[in-house]
Amino acid sequence: MLRVMPFEQGNASMKHLLGGKGANLAEMTRVGLPVPPGFTITTDVCRAYYAADRKLPEGLFEEVLSAMKQLEQAKGERFGDSEQPLLVSVRSGSVTSMPGMMDTILNLGLNDETVEGLARSTGDARFAYDCYRRLIQMFGNVVFDMEGYHFEFLLQRMKQQQGFDQDHQVTAEAWKTLIAEYKAVIAKHAGRSFPQQVIEQLQLAVEAVFRSWNNHRAQIYRNIHQIPDEQGTAVNVQSMVFGNMGTDCGTGVVFTRNPSTGEHILYGEFLMNAQGEDVVAGVRTPMPIAKLEEELPEVYAQLESAAIKLEKHYRDMQDIEFTVEKGKLYLLQTRNGKRTAQAAVQLAVGFVKEGTITKEEGIQRIEPFHLDQLLHRAIDTSSELDVLASGLPASPGAATGQAVFDADTAEAWSRAGKKVILVRSETTPEDIHGVLVAEGVLTSRGGMTSHAAVVARGMGKPCVCGCEPIRLRERAFDVVVTDSVTATIAEGEWISIDGATGRVIRGVVQLREPELTAELVELLAWADDIRRLQVYTNADTPEDAGKARSFGAEGIGLCRTEHMFMSPERVPVVRGMILADQPEERAAALAELLPMQQSDFEGIFRAMAGLPVTIRLLDPPLHEFLPNMEELAIQYSLLSQQKIGNTEELQRVERMLRKVRSLHEMNPMLGTRGCRLGLIHPEIYEMQVEAIFRAALQCLDEKVDVRPDIMIPLVGHESELKIMRELVDRKAAEVLGARLSTVHYRVGTMIEVPRAAITAGSIAKHADFFSFGTNDLTQMTLGYSRDDAEGKFLTHYVESKVLPSNPFQVLDQEGVGTLIRWAAAQGKSTKPQLKTGICGEHGGDKESIFFCHAEGLDYISCSPYRVPLARIAAAQAAIALGNPSEQASIKPAQSA
Ligand code: ADP
Ligand code: MG
Ligand code: MG
Repeated sequence: MLRVMPFEQGNASMKHLLGGKGANLAEMTRVGLPVPPGFTITTDVCRAYYAADRKLPEGLFEEVLSAMKQLEQAKGERFGDSEQPLLVSVRSGSVTSMPGMMDTILNLGLNDETVEGLARSTGDARFAYDCYRRLIQMFGNVVFDMEGYHFEFLLQRMKQQQGFDQDHQVTAEAWKTLIAEYKAVIAKHAGRSFPQQVIEQLQLAVEAVFRSWNNHRAQIYRNIHQIPDEQGTAVNVQSMVFGNMGTDCGTGVVFTRNPSTGEHILYGEFLMNAQGEDVVAGVRTPMPIAKLEEELPEVYAQLESAAIKLEKHYRDMQDIEFTVEKGKLYLLQTRNGKRTAQAAVQLAVGFVKEGTITKEEGIQRIEPFHLDQLLHRAIDTSSELDVLASGLPASPGAATGQAVFDADTAEAWSRAGKKVILVRSETTPEDIHGVLVAEGVLTSRGGMTSHAAVVARGMGKPCVCGCEPIRLRERAFDVVVTDSVTATIAEGEWISIDGATGRVIRGVVQLREPELTAELVELLAWADDIRRLQVYTNADTPEDAGKARSFGAEGIGLCRTEHMFMSPERVPVVRGMILADQPEERAAALAELLPMQQSDFEGIFRAMAGLPVTIRLLDPPLHEFLPNMEELAIQYSLLSQQKIGNTEELQRVERMLRKVRSLHEMNPMLGTRGCRLGLIHPEIYEMQVEAIFRAALQCLDEKVDVRPDIMIPLVGHESELKIMRELVDRKAAEVLGARLSTVHYRVGTMIEVPRAAITAGSIAKHADFFSFGTNDLTQMTLGYSRDDAEGKFLTHYVESKVLPSNPFQVLDQEGVGTLIRWAAAQGKSTKPQLKTGICGEHGGDKESIFFCHAEGLDYISCSPYRVPLARIAAAQAAIALGNPSEQASIKPAQSA
C-alpha cells in the first residue's frame, strides 16, 4: 500500500490515490510551477483508517516524519525549532471535489516557543502572533469540533475593546491577549489544552481530516451527488507560504476566464496582507484581480503567465488559489473551474477554435441537462427583486403574470388577454387547461416530480413547486415570509416566479428571451455532424412546432390530438358528440369538429414543411371531456330539490349525469382509451383521418411538402392495428382519390402495452414505424399508475433505495429497456425498413438518449426546448459508444 507520496513524485492522473488537490499539486510541481513543497497521505490510508475502526495504520507516522525531514531539508527549517520553525498546512483533498465540506488547518508547528522564533527570524512579531491565533482557532474548529462563534466572539470583543477596525491593524500585544483567551476557551470546551507538541499537532490534525470524511455535511453532500463512500479523502501536508507579511503580500483566487460568461480575461479577487481563507470568509472586501496589475505589476505578470501555462496544460479553464509572499507568487491549488451553461458553451467553442481541444472534446464538455438554463426566459439579473418565498426549482425559466387560483379562471382571464400565473396547493390532471394557458405554475405542495412539475417541464413552462411558506386561504394565498411576518398574494396580483432558482417574487420583473447564441449554433452544428440519432420533437401546435424547428427539430415524433379537443370553444361540440344518442346526431357534431381539426393540421404541416409529422389519433377516455361525476350528482340533487325548478336544465343535467355514469370506469388507465376507443367509435378516428388528409391536400395545393405519419395509440394485439390500418387506408383512398399517390403517408403504432412489445414481430406486419411511448410502457411494465405512484410510494422507494431512481424520469433499462430492445429487434426482423424511436419525457434525458443510440433506434422525440440538448446528448452518445454495428443508419457518413 502506498501511504505517503511527495509532490514531486505524483501527477494529475493519480487523483484516485492522491485526491484532486494532491494530484494537481503534484502535477504543478512536475511542470515546474512555483508550489510550496509538501507531500500527500493517500486515500488508501483513509480507507485503512475506517477499515480498522478509525485507527491510523501501524508505522504510518514514521513515514510521515521521514517525509517531514525531506521538507525540512528543502526549506532549511525545522519542525518545532525555536529559531527557524517549519510551518505546514494540513489540507483535506477528496477524489471528487466537495467544496466546503471538509477542513484545512494552516500554520501548524507554532507553539508558545516557536512563535517567538518566527517573530525573531522574520523580524515581525505582529505577523507571527497573527499566524498563531489563526492556528489555534482552526485547530479548535477542526480537531476539537468547536463552533466558530466561540472564537469570533472573542476576536470581535478584543477588537472593539482595543479600538481596532481591521484585522491587519491588530498589534502583536493584542494578538497575545487574544491567544490567551483562545487557549482558555479550548481548555474549557475540549477538556484539554491546546497541544504544544508539534508532532502531536500534526497527528491530531491528520486524523481530524480523515474523520471529517464522515462528518454529517460531507455524508449528505456525497448522497446528493452520488459520490461513493469508499472514495475516501487524502491529506496534504504542505510547507506554508505567507500572504500576511505586509503590503507586498496577499492571497487570492483567480479563474483563467470569466466563469459566468466565458469571456477570455483573468477573473478573480485578491486580498492584500491576508492569509488563506480570508478571501472567501469576507473579512475584508477583496479587490478585483485587475487592480493587482496596478498595485503589483510584476506579481500580476507572474500570475498571468502561470494562468496561461496551467490552462494550456490542463486544456480547460482553471480555478486557481495563490498566495504572494514578499512579491513572489506561489500556487496552492488548481482545478477545472465550475461554470454556468452560457460559459460552458462559450469555453468549449473557444477552446476548439484555439485548437486546444477537438470538436468531440468540446461537445463532451457540455452537460446537456445544464443547457436547460440557457433555453428558457430568465430574469434580467440587473433588476432588483422583492423575493417573497422560495420553493423547488421544478421547471426552468422565469414568468410574470397575475395570480389566479383555479384553472377555469386562468382560462377565462387568459382568453381576455391577461397573463396569468396559476397558483394552487397542487395541480391534478384536471387543471391541465389552466396550466396550458398560464405563463407559469406555482404550487405549495409536491416535489420536483409532482404533476405540476412534470406537466410544466413538458410544456417548457416555468414552475416552482413545494413552496411551503405559501398557504391557501380561501381566495388568497398567505405567504409566511418569516415567523412573524406574513404577506398575502391576492387574486389578480402581479407576481413572478423563477423556475431556475425556485424564487417567488412580488411584482413584474424584466425578462430576457432565450436565444441560441452564435457559439451554441456552431456547437450544435458540430454535434449534428457526429450524431446518428435523429432528434424529433413533441409538439401539438404550430407555435411549438415552429419553436422546435428553430431549435433544430427534424420532425414531430408526437403530435397529440386531445388538446385540440380541449380548447374552450370546442368542448361543447365534443360533449355533443359524446352525448349523442343517435348516429346522425354524432355525425353532425363530428362534422362540426372536422374543419377545426383540419385547420390545426394545416398549421402544423406548414410549420414542419418537408419534415415528418407523427400524429397520434385520440387517446384519452371520453369521460375526460365531460364534467366531473360527483359535481354533476350534487348539481342534480340540488336542482331536483327545487320544486319549481327549471325542468329543461334538470333534464340536461340528468342526461349528462347518466352519460358520465355510463362512461365511468374503475380504472381509466386500463379502460376504453387509445385504439380501443377507435374500434368502438370508428367515426371519431375516421373524422380525424379525414381532417389529416384534407389538410394534406390543402397544403399540397400551397406547394407545402407534407409527410403525415399516422400513429395508432395503445395497440396490444396485431388485429387492433390491422383494423385501424385498414380504416386509415380506406379513408385515405376516399379523401385523396386520384391524388392518393401524391401524399406520402405512413401508418404506425405506439408501443406502450407490454403485449405489443412482446409480439412486436407480428405487429410490425401492419406498421411502418414504432414509437415507444415510454411513459405508458413504464406504467404498464411496472404496474404503477404514475399519478398514484409519484409523491406516494414511489418517493419512498427512491428515498430508501428500493429503486435506483424514478423510472418515469430515468428509463428503467433493465425492465422497460429490455422490452424496447426486444420489440425493436423483432419489428426490424419482420420489416427491415421499420422506423423506430421513443417519445415522452425520457426522450429529453441524457441516459435514455444514450440507450436509444446503443440500441440502434432511429430517433428520439422530446419537448421543443430540449431539442438542442438532445442534439448534444445524441452526439455525446456517438462519441462515447461509437456506432452500433447493425446500424440501419439514416444519417450520412460521419465527419469529424
Ligand atoms: P479548501 O479546499 O477549503 O479550499 P484548502 O486546503 O485549499 O481548503 O486551503 C484553504 C486556504 O488556505 C486556501 O486559500 C489555500 O490557498 C490556503 N492554504 C492552504 N495551504 C497553504 C499553504 N501551505 N500556504 C499558504 N496558504 C495555504
Ligand atoms: Mg482550496
Ligand atoms: Mg400512451
